[in-house]
Amino acid sequence: MTSQVLEPCLSTLPSPRLALVPEPARLDVLGQALPVALTSGERVDYANFDYAASAPCLAAVADAVSRALPEYASAHRGAGSLSVKTTQRYEEARATVAGFLGCRDDDAVVFTRNTTDATNLLAHVLPVGTRVVVFGSEHHATLLPWSDAVRLPIPATSGEAVRSVHDALRELRRDGDQRPILVAVTGASNVTGELWPINEIAVVARRHRARVFLDAAQLAPHRAVDVAALGVDYVAVSGHKLYAPFGSGVLAGRTDWLDAASPYLSGGGASRHVGDATDDIEWATGPARHEAGTPNVIGAVALAAACRALSTAGQDRLADAEASLLKRLRDGLRRIPGLHELTAFGPAAPRVGIVAFTVDGIDAATLAQRLSDEYGIGVRAGLFCAHPLTRRLLNQSGGTGTTAAVRASIGLGSTPEHVDRLVAAVSKIAAER
Ligand code: PMP
Repeated sequence: MTSQVLEPCLSTLPSPRLALVPEPARLDVLGQALPVALTSGERVDYANFDYAASAPCLAAVADAVSRALPEYASAHRGAGSLSVKTTQRYEEARATVAGFLGCRDDDAVVFTRNTTDATNLLAHVLPVGTRVVVFGSEHHATLLPWSDAVRLPIPATSGEAVRSVHDALRELRRDGDQRPILVAVTGASNVTGELWPINEIAVVARRHRARVFLDAAQLAPHRAVDVAALGVDYVAVSGHKLYAPFGSGVLAGRTDWLDAASPYLSGGGASRHVGDATDDIEWATGPARHEAGTPNVIGAVALAAACRALSTAGQDRLADAEASLLKRLRDGLRRIPGLHELTAFGPAAPRVGIVAFTVDGIDAATLAQRLSDEYGIGVRAGLFCAHPLTRRLLNQSGGTGTTAAVRASIGLGSTPEHVDRLVAAVSKIAAER
């Protein structure tokens, strides 16, 4: 065994783009035709419209996990052959995720629990004095972790979003202030599915020597993400939204802030040398610095398998298929009297497969419950952990009689029958008012 295998400092990864080994794409999801009981006693196949919360597991992911489990052993700790194999699997997973996200060769990929964990890790490593710029429309995972954030108003168009970042950065750089700045922004809204102008924001940020963090929790399951091409500095994703619900996520990006900060968690794996004196500690650099404790190898393997399956299938092709299903859904919903779709940038703005709506006079939680009880349809009702955005969109939607919205989100297991069932069910419930 080489010392490299046991060494937790992982700054020299193989070129990430080489790590995407093609394998047959199996894009079916588990539980696809699962019967669920209605309150009538009848059983119907579950129609899952809650992909934006957590996507079902891809069959390819379950296969990869099944292959890894019998050979599972400790990672980065053991001398046995299965430990070596498990360590290799973990590091290959890291390289695969780097390739999937289009990371630069020298970017770090740190495995986290999810996107929330990733944004909190990034907040932890910000150099002292860093100013953070964030839109009020963000998911709470990207809105809340920063101790000193400039909160920008929710823009009405994507052009306004870019101008708003420009104005904020110009203001922060006034009088020659050289402190680091981070712009934290979502790629796709978890409320409306609308795409944010990441490329343009990154251009503006660079002009002002600011860094950009891309919250790709909702973007990556629907669109190819290329960190290098987008010009962003950091990206985060959640495995459970990427068809790999095994408790892993990722923060990827520039290494300097990560290596300069104290470890996110202190403990084994993050420490290279610990002496007898309390302050005699040498911390690892690279991902290991922030991955103390035994890593979630199976979660990493699962996430990498999802990345491989989506890449092999072609995310552009998948996006085209999703677009026609989304059109069917929105066209159907739009015809229902008293239904209001929530939108920040307007109905024609580009978006992924997420639609939030209200129906006049029907409480969102009641509507969601009836869709489940009477039609076997799973949606989510509420403010979707983006309270300021959802409240604002509810206010401007023209809807009445509800203080929350219903969200229908689609993904790889969604079918035209599911869409037609949802539209018919909402129509029927709306007509009973
Ligand atoms: N950002 C966005 C845009 C999200 O939709 C979510 C999850 N709803 C998160 C961040 C947080 O993801 P997680 O719950 O996996 O940490």
